[in-house]
Amino acid sequence: MKRLGRNQDGYRGPAIEPDALIRFMAAEAVRHGWSLEALEAAPDVALPVLQRPARPLHQRPLRCYISAGIHGDEPAGPLAVLDLLRSGLLPSHVDFTLCPVLNPRGLRSNDRHNTEGIDLNRDYNHLRAPETRAHVEWLSSQAPFDLTLLLHEDWEAAGFYLYELHPEHAQGLAHHVVDAVARVCPIETSATIDGRDAHAPGIIRPSIDPSSRPDWPEAFWLLQNRTGRNLTLEAPSDFPLATRVGALAEAVQAALASCPVL
Ligand SMILES: [Zn+2]
Repeated sequence: MKRLGRNQDGYRGPAIEPDALIRFMAAEAVRHGWSLEALEAAPDVALPVLQRPARPLHQRPLRCYISAGIHGDEPAGPLAVLDLLRSGLLPSHVDFTLCPVLNPRGLRSNDRHNTEGIDLNRDYNHLRAPETRAHVEWLSSQAPFDLTLLLHEDWEAAGFYLYELHPEHAQGLAHHVVDAVARVCPIETSATIDGRDAHAPGIIRPSIDPSSRPDWPEAFWLLQNRTGRNLTLEAPSDFPLATRVGALAEAVQAALASCPVL
């Protein structure tokens, strides 16, 4: 499978219309027994949240959080969430929280930033953007998650890769995820990915010291406040949209299948 060669100085592929996407998600949520709410970030900015408790209820379920669409020029993440909802493949024994459209204004304009020019995924300690403030305020009311999966795309990448962030003692999931995704999408094999040394093909394990980055991404806030285990999943956006959506959906399922039972 070859790159399309379309992304020259940024993402140049198809965009999505977030309002239509949210309507589709809401329909699937109702059909599959999910609850749906909207976080009002601003008068014209609502962030959908979908939740489904685990069945059976009496066991201590794995709590999984999935987010997408924080960068408006990365449409595959929200579409992967829609595909997972439609397919019914998300396991019923897991307690799910989904925030699948964190930057609706950016998605509408196919722009990484929100309309105020803020990169929301660098705003989780400053909280300058209304989207980030609404998201953090709501997350702060939620119980901790065992596994958090953040769906992204990289316009420069030659293949799928991921960031694995967790304390030293935790068993890694990254190899399982990369092996699964390799069946549907090329894997990034560069020794240096996004300016960081790769731990293994397609796997980056950066420092999780919060002082190592002044502008926190969502993953850092989650690690400081709500989770011990995070994977940031990056699909290569110079490949066909269906390939990228398939890669992210496969990665989510592989992470869930390999996450240790509590
Ligand atoms: Zn991104």
